[in-house]
Amino acid sequence: MSTAQATVVPSFIAGEWISPQAEGGTQVLDANTGQPVATVSAGALDVAAALDYGRTVGQRELSGLSLHQRALKLKELALYLNERREELYEISYRTGATKIDSMVDIDGGIGVLFTFSSKGRRELPNSNVILDGPTEPLSKDGSFIGTHIFTPMAGVTVQINAFNFPVWGMLEKFAPAFIAGVPTIVKPASPTGYLSEAVVRMMLDSGLLPDGSLQLLSGSARDLLDHMDYRDMVAFTGSAATANKLKAHRNVVDGGVKFTSETDSLNAAILGPDAVEGTEEFNAFVKAVVSEMTSKAGQKCTAIRRSIVPEQLVDAVIKAVGERIEARTVIGDPRVEGVTMGALASLDQLRDVRQAVQDMLDAGGELAYGSLDAPRVRTSGERTEIAQDGAFMAPVVLRWSDPANPILHSREAFGPVSSVVGYRSLDEAVELAAQGAGSLVATVCTNDPEAMRALTLGIAAHHGRVHILNRETARTSTGHGSPVPHLVHGGPGRAGGGEELGGIRSVM
Ligand code: NAP
Repeated sequence: MSTAQATVVPSFIAGEWISPQAEGGTQVLDANTGQPVATVSAGALDVAAALDYGRTVGQRELSGLSLHQRALKLKELALYLNERREELYEISYRTGATKIDSMVDIDGGIGVLFTFSSKGRRELPNSNVILDGPTEPLSKDGSFIGTHIFTPMAGVTVQINAFNFPVWGMLEKFAPAFIAGVPTIVKPASPTGYLSEAVVRMMLDSGLLPDGSLQLLSGSARDLLDHMDYRDMVAFTGSAATANKLKAHRNVVDGGVKFTSETDSLNAAILGPDAVEGTEEFNAFVKAVVSEMTSKAGQKCTAIRRSIVPEQLVDAVIKAVGERIEARTVIGDPRVEGVTMGALASLDQLRDVRQAVQDMLDAGGELAYGSLDAPRVRTSGERTEIAQDGAFMAPVVLRWSDPANPILHSREAFGPVSSVVGYRSLDEAVELAAQGAGSLVATVCTNDPEAMRALTLGIAAHHGRVHILNRETARTSTGHGSPVPHLVHGGPGRAGGGEELGGIRSVM
């Protein structure tokens, strides 16, 4: 992948790299320049062979290692990848990611390996099974007792991943599965699968992984679930529409394939009534909103899509958000000095996001900041020009006269887009947040303990994670949109109902 020549992204199946024909495949372009990067083959992949290899060779090789030995391998793997990050950043630029975006994806993914390695060795026994709770006496004299134990699943975990985090999204699922002794098959999203392929190749080249513990399917693999059964699991990340389709597959409904999903989410950030202009909370809130809009060009499942603020602060928040974007955001090819926000992942993505914004405007939203026109992008030094070839989009803030407008709470514009709405009471703020029908994360930003309690308890059941932001936590918070390996990532309802990470919980 080191040349600009468009090569077919290979797959790794049953111990061999396979490069199918390019004919009929989909060309993937550099998100910033429109130059060809790779071709994703349309040819059939031997999914059955991959599953069989994982269930036999992968299972056998992994079971030869204890929980601690597998956890230690994750650390060795993390150290190996750490040495090779620069190579991955170069590839990652092509997806539209800046260096900082890539650090979230690549270093963040490596960080998950480190965390799971140390938690695995610290919190799990050095054996191949895990006891779950105390022994239950089932007879008076103790001659008959019962206990729960966790053993590895008999099949494989198939990851179907979204395009936005081609490295982190893969490693955060791989780490717990590997410790649990379950082989992984990765099916990356086609637009950025070439970066996942580069990482998988490094992981395999390291020589650290047992045979069959990691395989890669580069391509559409639409028949994946046809070959799976009750021994296997699908860990899906992507849109709710795709998740719903896959969840209805007969092998899930009748065949017992385990299915977890992390899907889209209209995440909220609520500003407390005390956090008026000039307070540290107001500033921290504005900073969080802008960071979530511009990091990865807003292509984060956890990004803040809805700012729910006291009615009288709507104008002030919009103004401050606009000023901060103006002062800190430089759009362009991330390889150009000074650029802080790259392109969206593809021209298709740009079209989808613009359409989503247009639909929201048509349904009653108002453009409060930004525009849907092609933005000016930095070309060199201070020079800028109107974007020509890349999938560039300027940040956009929407204002709403009706805070309950359904489209505001249901349409995900997966780009640098966020809405600001007003509330009149804390109860209304809770109701508005809940209209997302289940989200991954929400921020509650207030320094008033009573408001914090009411908002947090009010919204908790609708969210996977609540991020508390005030002058204290702002100093060290890793941010609204950053899932951490120690805590659960997932959310109810529309967010997919899944649960990932959360330390050893995910190994179980
Ligand atoms: P997507 O279109 O739903 O695709 C997700 C994955 O599913 C891709 O790998 C895609 O492969 C694959 N796929 C689609 N149809 C399939 C089928 N019939 N059988 C097997 N695989 C199939 O989503 P996306 O556009 O990549 O990602 C953006 C969405 O993901 C956003 O809505 C975002 O909110 C969500 N997301 C959620 C999380 C989370 O943790 N909750 C994280 C990141 C993103 P191809 O690419 O080859 O079509």
